Amino acid sequence: MTTARTAVITGAGSRRGIGRATAHALAGTGWQIAVLDIDGTGAEDAAAEVADRHGVPAVGVGCDVTDRAGVHAAVAAVEAALAPIGALVNNAGITSPTRFLEVSDAEWDRIFEVNVRGSYLMTKRVVPGMVDRGFGRVVNLSSVSAERGGGVFGGVAYSAAKAALLGFSRALARELGPHGVTVNAVAPGLVDTDITAGRLAPERKAAMAAEIPTGRLGVVDDVAQVIEFLCRPQSGYITGATYDVNGGSHIH
Ligand code: NAD
Repeated sequence: MTTARTAVITGAGSRRGIGRATAHALAGTGWQIAVLDIDGTGAEDAAAEVADRHGVPAVGVGCDVTDRAGVHAAVAAVEAALAPIGALVNNAGITSPTRFLEVSDAEWDRIFEVNVRGSYLMTKRVVPGMVDRGFGRVVNLSSVSAERGGGVFGGVAYSAAKAALLGFSRALARELGPHGVTVNAVAPGLVDTDITAGRLAPERKAAMAAEIPTGRLGVVDDVAQVIEFLCRPQSGYITGATYDVNGGSHIH
């Protein structure tokens, strides 16, 4: 990349997660990296790992993306430390398989807070600078659950929240297109990370893999490579799109 730019990735603190792999993929093509995660130690660890492996400037900041003041403070810290923000990957997310008849209001609200409000607050804070500079890439992590109506691991709340991110991405893409800012969604199928917190038995994973046309579950790099592609300056004609990364498990 000729112009020094920073990519902000939320939820890249977890060691085996999609966000961490995305931070590495973006750093590998020259982006400066900011990791924001509710797990501040994880965020700092990710930034140190990225800087060490790729030799790019990187910072990790503890931040709950559902907290407006925290988001504003964290982004201000990133702006003070690194090159102007050119990409935002709204990756922080939580899931739950709780069935609709059992879900509590508190659980429903928290799933929407992290997945939807978090993406909203981050985008609202970061996008004005992108518009001023005439360049930006926003990628939102949706899910195959949004497209097929749950049924993988996430329940109704997760499916609904991830579907909200599709509408968010599409409508925002229309508004920001004239300003050189693209907004896209990525919809992974089941990727082997810690988001299921050990609640998905190995036998169930194996049974699911057997049903997937490509014969395996997703790995984090499958998703990270697509996000890196969407963040490239050359990808400026792609906006409002949803990229499926599901091994053919949901073809529509
Ligand atoms: P993960 O659990 O490994 O990582 C999620 C990260 O988000 C963690 O580091 C966690 O600390 C952070 N986080 C949670 N709440 C936060 C908050 N309030 N503020 C800031 N950070 C917060 O999960 P993953 O599997 O890598 O998932 C990444 C994204 O991809 C999520 O949005 C998820 O919904 C989506 N996704 C995952 C899968 C999958 O199968 N793994 C499939 C489809 C979509």
